[in-house]
Amino acid sequence: MSAAEAVTEALRELHARFAPLGEGSVAEYIPQLARSDPGAFGLALVSMDGHRYGAGDTTVPFTLQSVSKPFVYALALSLLGLDEVGRWVNAEPSGEAYNAISLEPDTGRPDNAMVNAGAIITTALIPDTSGAPRFERVLDCLSRFAGRELDVDEQVYASEAATGDRNRALAYLIRSTGPLPVDPVAAVDTYFRQCAVRATATDLAAMAATLAHGGVNPLTGEAVVPGPVAAQTLAVMATCGMYDGSGDWLLRVGLPAKSGVSGGLIAVSPARFGLAAYSPRLDPTGTSVRGRAAVGALSEELGLHLMHNPALAGSTVTLIATPDELPTAGAGVPRERVAVVAAQGALDFTAAERVLYALDEARPGGTEPVVLDLTEVTGVDRVAFTMLSGGLGRIAASGARTAVVDRADRLALPGPGEPGGPAVPRGFATRARALAWCTGDGPG
Ligand code: GLN
Repeated sequence: MSAAEAVTEALRELHARFAPLGEGSVAEYIPQLARSDPGAFGLALVSMDGHRYGAGDTTVPFTLQSVSKPFVYALALSLLGLDEVGRWVNAEPSGEAYNAISLEPDTGRPDNAMVNAGAIITTALIPDTSGAPRFERVLDCLSRFAGRELDVDEQVYASEAATGDRNRALAYLIRSTGPLPVDPVAAVDTYFRQCAVRATATDLAAMAATLAHGGVNPLTGEAVVPGPVAAQTLAVMATCGMYDGSGDWLLRVGLPAKSGVSGGLIAVSPARFGLAAYSPRLDPTGTSVRGRAAVGALSEELGLHLMHNPALAGSTVTLIATPDELPTAGAGVPRERVAVVAAQGALDFTAAERVLYALDEARPGGTEPVVLDLTEVTGVDRVAFTMLSGGLGRIAASGARTAVVDRADRLALPGPGEPGGPAVPRGFATRARALAWCTGDGPG
């Protein structure tokens, strides 16, 4: 057994635990969906490195239905921006069923893009040009999220198109109060095709993983939507993705999620993985019974709840040495002594705050020269860059020699001999050279 089988085993265990759940029934209001196998059950997981795991029916194709909504919302956001999309669709939980008339009383604007009313408008907002027809853009986007070319289940599409009067009525109602940019029948038709796009549980997990990975598909490496759009989409999934059960889901499971009436369910653990379940028996809210149970159990057992220790980072500072703690250089010759701070890992706001605090601790007199060693640092994000540049600049401006050890020069500092003036911290490739400079031995 391979080591990574342990992850598969965990999914198999969940699968075995929840397969006996026989409650709920398959959706029947779309006649073709009534033919789904009520016993089908698959679980899939895709990691941020693009590793795929699954148990049960992970290769059985089914239609996305409402699971398509967050991805088309993400497409609309990336093409039009949040302000423009927000003029047409609000982002408030409706507290109502997915097919309810969840429209703001005065404007007719739907409550959010996860319920049918909002999703119909969201799809209609996607530009429609002869070179790039609306539905082609939608299908192309869904395919990029999945990392392979998806297609339409024409039978499910035709079945819903023939019976979908409630959605057509919703579209007419929306247009009667204002916010529908296109013909209601055409809008709903594109929406039905989008709902009938076919994918497997593994595809859904890849789509969820792309949202977890800041919009970059971990299988293909393609940036499908910008990072901020992925975050906005996850926010709406967290507050509205499970319809009138969204609050309870966020409370108990704590993951952005989206369910669909074909039995698909995705959940996103940001920066960790995308998860998908497929099981067509639905509870009264239209969510897969086994999917809900399995995702809920996984979140609890792996401690994935978003509000649980959000991003408690590992240790950042590996050394704080005040000048008193360092051996004096040279035999018996008193030299100006130097404080040293070393850090490790990825530096973001939280880590940069620790480093700045450590720099102060290492300089109890507030005047000592200091070396900050970033050799073991794996990354410096934009926020940490600004914070560290600012903090080190203050020390240097106060007149203390300030040196950074970093071969990659991620703080973009001038070397010892380069121009910049005494108030600018200097960059070095080794700690020995930085110390030498700080004690006045190296080139100034
Ligand atoms: N196509 C379905 C509908 O509009 C999607 C609903 C869902 O999956 N919740 O009724």
